[in-house]
Amino acid sequence: MNCPYCNKELEIDPIVFSNVAIYQKPVLAVTRCCSHGVIVGAVITYRVTEYTGTATEDDWGNPIKRKKSEDTKRTNT
Ligand SMILES: [Zn+2]
Repeated sequence: MNCPYCNKELEIDPIVFSNVAIYQKPVLAVTRCCSHGVIVGAVITYRVTEYTGTATEDDWGNPIKRKKSEDTKRTNT
């Protein structure tokens, strides 16, 4: 990530990123590369992948539909 001021590799105290991750609020910080003020905020992305474990309910207690192919696989092993 490049600095929006000097356009070199952005240098910020790592504690800034930890703080944003923990408190989930943007913060004002000074860059180490050129001492300008920047707002540092988190961009959250989500990854959804197929569940292949053996749980029968999700984390809220909703029943998980099992795939027919997995039932067959399980009885064969
Ligand atoms: Zn800079």
